[in-house]
Amino acid sequence: MTTNANPREYLRHTVAAPDGVHLNRRMREVEISWPDGRTDKLSCLALRAACACSSCLHAKRSGRLALYDADITIVDAKPFGVSGLQLFFSDGHSRGVFPWAYLRELGEVE
Ligand SMILES: [Zn+2]
Repeated sequence: MTTNANPREYLRHTVAAPDGVHLNRRMREVEISWPDGRTDKLSCLALRAACACSSCLHAKRSGRLALYDADITIVDAKPFGVSGLQLFFSDGHSRGVFPWAYLRELGEVE
C-alpha cells in the first residue's frame, strides 16, 4: 500500500522550483520551465484529472467515475508556499495543490 502515493508526500521531496510557469489559456495548458532546461506542457484537463485534493482522492478510491469537460481551463495559478502551485479550475475547483515534484512527474508521464 505504498505505491499509490499521496501527492502531499511529494512536499517532503525537494525539487527546485521552476524558472517559470506560464498559463496558456488559448491552448488550455500550463507550460513549466525547469531549471535543468526541460519544459513541460500539461493540459488543464490532465491537471484537473490529476487533482489530488482529499475529495478527488476519495472519489478515485471509491471508484467513482469522474468526467471533466474537455474545455476545462485553469483560471488562476498561485504559488503554494515555495513547494508548489495551487490551481484554480474553470469548474470552480481549487482545492488541489500541485507540488513541484508532482508536476515533474506528471510531465514525465505525458
Ligand atoms: Zn480536487
